[in-house]
Amino acid sequence: MLRAGQTLSRRLTSNLQGFHVVNQFDVDDLKLKVTERVHQQSEAKWTHIDKHGETEKVFNICFRTVPFTDNGVAHILEHLVLCGSKDYPVRDPFFKMINRSLNSFMNAMTGTDYTMYPFQTSNEQDFQNLLAVYLDAVFQPQLRYIDFNQEAWRLGEGDDGSDDLDQLILKGVVFNEMKGAMADRDQLFFRRFIAAMCPSGTYQYNSGGEPMAIPSLTYEELKKFHADHYSPANAHIITFGDVMLEDTAAHMNKTLTSVPKGAPAQEIVKEASWTNSRESTWNGPWNESANDVTKQSTAAVGFGICDRNDTWMNFIGQILGSLLSDGPSSPLYKELIESGLGSEYSPGTGFWMYLKDSIFAAGLQDVAEEDLDSVQELVFSGLRRAQEEGFPQDRIDAILHQIELSTRHQTPKFGLNLSFGVHPGILHGADMKESLETLSYVKRLKEELQKNPKYLVDFIEPFFFQNKHVSRVKMIAQKDYEDVQTKLEEKLTEKKVSKLSKRGKLDILDLEMELEEEQLATPNVECLPTLSVSDIPAEKQSFVPSQVGENMHWLKTSGSGLTYLRAMIQLDGLSKRETELLPLYETLLTRIGRGEYDYRQIGVAQNLISGGFSVKTGILTDRNDVNVATPTIDFYTYGLDEKLDEIVPIFKTLLDADGPDFNGERIKTVLNEAYSNANGGIVGVGHQYSMAFSHSNVTAYGSLNETLSGLTAIKTMKTAVETNDFDSLSNEIKQLHAKISSMYLKTLVHSDCDKSPKLASFFNSTRSGKVDAAPHDISFDSLERIRLRPFINNPIRYKSTWNLGFPINFVSRAVSTVHDAHEDVAPLRILSAMMGSKFLLREIREFGGAYGAGASHVGGAFRLFSYRDPSGLSTLAKYSKAVEWVQKQDWTERDVNEAILKVFQGVDAPIAPSSRGVGIWKNDLSVDEIAKRRHELLSVTGSDLLRVNEKYLMNPTIRSDTIIGPQEALLRQEADNPMQSQTEAWKQLKL
Ligand SMILES: [Zn+2]
Repeated sequence: MLRAGQTLSRRLTSNLQGFHVVNQFDVDDLKLKVTERVHQQSEAKWTHIDKHGETEKVFNICFRTVPFTDNGVAHILEHLVLCGSKDYPVRDPFFKMINRSLNSFMNAMTGTDYTMYPFQTSNEQDFQNLLAVYLDAVFQPQLRYIDFNQEAWRLGEGDDGSDDLDQLILKGVVFNEMKGAMADRDQLFFRRFIAAMCPSGTYQYNSGGEPMAIPSLTYEELKKFHADHYSPANAHIITFGDVMLEDTAAHMNKTLTSVPKGAPAQEIVKEASWTNSRESTWNGPWNESANDVTKQSTAAVGFGICDRNDTWMNFIGQILGSLLSDGPSSPLYKELIESGLGSEYSPGTGFWMYLKDSIFAAGLQDVAEEDLDSVQELVFSGLRRAQEEGFPQDRIDAILHQIELSTRHQTPKFGLNLSFGVHPGILHGADMKESLETLSYVKRLKEELQKNPKYLVDFIEPFFFQNKHVSRVKMIAQKDYEDVQTKLEEKLTEKKVSKLSKRGKLDILDLEMELEEEQLATPNVECLPTLSVSDIPAEKQSFVPSQVGENMHWLKTSGSGLTYLRAMIQLDGLSKRETELLPLYETLLTRIGRGEYDYRQIGVAQNLISGGFSVKTGILTDRNDVNVATPTIDFYTYGLDEKLDEIVPIFKTLLDADGPDFNGERIKTVLNEAYSNANGGIVGVGHQYSMAFSHSNVTAYGSLNETLSGLTAIKTMKTAVETNDFDSLSNEIKQLHAKISSMYLKTLVHSDCDKSPKLASFFNSTRSGKVDAAPHDISFDSLERIRLRPFINNPIRYKSTWNLGFPINFVSRAVSTVHDAHEDVAPLRILSAMMGSKFLLREIREFGGAYGAGASHVGGAFRLFSYRDPSGLSTLAKYSKAVEWVQKQDWTERDVNEAILKVFQGVDAPIAPSSRGVGIWKNDLSVDEIAKRRHELLSVTGSDLLRVNEKYLMNPTIRSDTIIGPQEALLRQEADNPMQSQTEAWKQLKL
């Protein structure tokens, strides 16, 4: 004992570049070694977490940021910090570093009360390079006035490019970003809900920025916010993985001692206790494509549960939150979802612990205005029901089993996610060790439940019925919501413009010119560190599963004690209607009753023995023909080795012809919920939907992808819900399932040892054996494609626009290229990366004010996109300009090399041990083919890019454009720009 104590004290005082160890401990369950240090001179905190055998290295610096305003100062500062710093005085060093690194994650994010800057890479040199740029960025940013105008807000000339001084509009990257974010009903609800729960401190404000308040932010205020918050004494750094500690510490020490020490930002105060529950109501957006336009409002009840620093109470809160609201067997699901008053839970339903006060909330969305009060009453009756009925032991066991599994399941972003989970808790005073030791809490809870089986139920009374920190909230959808926002913006613009003198207006134009010049200037990036193409390993180990049975492959994993099971059915010969039904089938299969379990029991039964089951549609392409693509249905589950005997029979119920119970009533509930969810999710990833639709006109892959997961799939779901004939639908899906369940299936097992003897009998007994049809015999039936072929000499142009009620655009273009095995795919992929980072980001993000833009090459198509874009047609014009830019060779071999690095971030992105070899197994790829593609990518040159640009992009055979966004604006724009309007009219679509 004495010896251990001596060792400890020696270690505790050890000094590493000015950092002193203040605490050191192991977390055995997660195999972690944690060292907490404090930088003596500046008081910056640094926690290093080591995990044996990890290849990824993580850095994450976090500041407590406490805005007392809606003008978005914390969020805008996060953007400005990325715009150049003392040692790296170049425009957007972050964006530039993305292309000079092999990182697998680089980002920055503003929370309600913190701002963090994380990155992840597996290359040590890259880690040190990024460390240098990140530290300099946060502690010594340039914070230039011109960048403030670019990122925050400014008055500038309108989209038509005229310098008419009376046509000034509000611009700015964050201004547009937040307009988009606040048009998303889920985000709007959640922001307002936080304010309703915690109205007295910083949480009443929108840390991202309210669009109409952002233009009140001044440059001086921004600089002061940096000085007040981004100081060493207010910083907490987490590093993870096998990093060179001495070098890392030396670098941090150098930066931390060269800036003022500062002071910790003010602590977040817990909401003072309330004497009565409160009510809040606000307006929300209207969605013409809602399932039922009369049901678009939201109601919820929120409860302040406990202080974030109380790790045990937060653990209890998480378990109780799951028991109350997760899955169809939970009391709130029965009470709320099955009431039929709405179609899915309101955003934030469940227990969450981001704030100083941890909160439980429950409610419904898609509710008629007159039913909002009833929904709130149902929350209380559901809680009362839980209190009276208690929780079945198997539900508690299932939740605890999931926690145990999660500590063993290895994911490629383990360290990064750990830093995301730990930072907010630490900021609110939670203990680091306790925050990491979840399994000891599982043990403790089991002991408590032994002593008192009602241990969890007993928390319901104090948490919900004796609690006064309760908010009843409503968001009421208003048909004119968007119009009101537009008018507010017009008024604000007018007010800002009216205050301008003639001189002031001219200054604005000067500033626009200055911005433009700077954006056009070729940046000198010499000062930035970089990796080079030679840092990319020429060869990479491929994991090849070995065949262990007629339809079974196996890949050995090491020592987690878990077995992973995958199965895939290739869906040859489905009709068009059957293919359309696949997204519904995939949604339903795991959420309806199966085998001996009804739909309430199945989830619990699964979670007791496994990490859950997933069913997803996929696509196989013919590597030699872009006009062939085949849908697949993929199954996945995992669990402890010793549970395999129980997992297999449940797995079997997915595949048996009479396994699933396609009950019409249940289908109705699931599809209503799924449609609402899918529809609400479009605005967050509108660029993907836009690209998918453009792509659908171009290749078989695109067409199939649109049917399975594009807006067309959502439309299929909507039609099913509207038709409201679930018995017929049930019959159709039953027949589809019968067909699928007789098709050839192949499996892949990841485990410590070969489990095939155990599994073979099961899989062989359910299948008639291998069907003789060759894998790619039958193509996805696309009549359109066949029709198109004869016109190949006549370029085909598609123009489609979707009106989904969004105030901003998602503009995309897809052009046809070539099949996957072709040697031109490598240069096309590199070209897409270069075009994205060197041209589109500048033209569309920096000039155009969109939040994002880029390009990719997938499934025989070159695709370009913009994200949350104020422009429509002019962005399309920029896509054409991008092709000209490549042709003019206004770029260098270095840009090509950076693009290669960028592409390899994806190619070499870390994957979980349980996902190794999946691509090889699924697509029948050979190791030689993978090596050949790698070699092709590594050897791309500038002349290759010129060649494929000319061959495929200059005058493409098929070109398809899609704009998701406000249509009136688009059509007005087109009328104003007859030059751009083309003979073919826009096809106008709706959900
Ligand atoms: Zn942002």
